[in-house]
Amino acid sequence: AGMVTASAGALSDYWGDWMRSIGATERVFEIIDSAPDEEGRAGLGRQLQGRIAFEQVSFAYPERPERAALDDISFVIAAGEKVALVGASGAGKSTIASMLLGFYRPDLGAIRFDGLAPDELALGDIRANIAIVEQEPSLFSGSIGENIAFAVAEREVAPAEVEAAARLANAHDFISAFPQGYDTVVGDRGVQLSGGQKQRIAIARALLRDPRILILDEATSALDSASELLVQTALDQLMRGRTTIIIAHRYSTIVKADRVLVLRQGAIAQQGTHAELLRQRDGLYFQLMENQLAMYRDIAAAPAPHEPA
Ligand code: ADP
Ligand code: MG
Repeated sequence: AGMVTASAGALSDYWGDWMRSIGATERVFEIIDSAPDEEGRAGLGRQLQGRIAFEQVSFAYPERPERAALDDISFVIAAGEKVALVGASGAGKSTIASMLLGFYRPDLGAIRFDGLAPDELALGDIRANIAIVEQEPSLFSGSIGENIAFAVAEREVAPAEVEAAARLANAHDFISAFPQGYDTVVGDRGVQLSGGQKQRIAIARALLRDPRILILDEATSALDSASELLVQTALDQLMRGRTTIIIAHRYSTIVKADRVLVLRQGAIAQQGTHAELLRQRDGLYFQLMENQLAMYRDIAAAPAPHEPA
C-alpha cells in the first residue's frame, strides 16, 4: 500500500500493472507514485537537481543470474542534460530505466542521484522526482481530467491546473472538442483515443507532475505526421529544463539529444554527440544509423498503401 490519499484503488491497480509489465513488454512506462521503499521510508519531499550517475553498475535479473543484463556500466548525466540510449533490442535500455526507478538494485556498483549515496535517498523521493512517458501509454478507465490529475497523488489538483498542463501538451483542443470535455470517460466504456492523443494525455500528466527527471520511451512505429508534430512539440515542452533519458529509436530524436549512449549487450559501446559518433565509421553507432537509413529507403521505395483515388 502506498502513501496515496486519493483513488488509492485505481493507483495500486496501476502500480501492479506497471510491475507486471516490467521486462515483459516494451510498453511499460508510466507515472509512478511515491510508495515507501523496502525499509518503509516514504519520500521526504526532497527535491532533486536531476544529476544521475551510474558507477560501475552490474546487474543480472534474478531469473537469469548467469547473464549480465548490465555489465560494469558507468556514465554521468548532468542535471538538465538530454541523453539518448540507443542499441539493439536486448542491449539493456529498459533495464537502465527500471534501475533508475528502483525496481532493481545493482548487484555491483552504485546509482547516485545528485551525488548522494544510495542510502541517503528514500526510494519515494527518487520516484517523486521522475516521470515516465511510455510509447503506448495506458490510461485507466475514468475521465480524461482524472487521467491527467492522477500525476499528483499528494494533493487536490484544480481543474485550471489540469487544463494548463493539457494546453502545454497540445491536448486541450481535442479534449474540449468532446461534448463532455475533461469529463469525457476513456477506456473500455468510454471514447477510444488515438495513439497520439493518448501520448499527449500522458505528456500533460507528466507536465503536471513537474519532475526533475524524465524518461521517455520513444515509439518505434510512426504516428501520422500531423499527430507526430503535435506530440513532438509537446515533448519538447516537457523536456525543457529537465534531465531527460530517451530510449530512442528515431533518428530525429537522437539528433536532438545532447549526447548518445550506445549500448551493446549490457555494456556501453560508445558515447558522444551524434556528430562525433557518426564520424567513427567502424563503430556500432554508424552501423545502427545506416540500418535505420536503409529502412527508410525501403519504406520510401515501397508503393504507398492507400493512394487516394
Ligand atoms: P532493451 O530495452 O535494450 O531491449 P532490456 O533492458 O529489456 O533491453 O534487456 C536487457 C537484457 O536483459 C536482455 O538480454 C533481456 O532478455 C534481459 N531481460 C530483460 N528483462 C528481463 C527479465 N524481467 N528477466 C530476465 N531477463 C530479462
Ligand atoms: Mg526495452
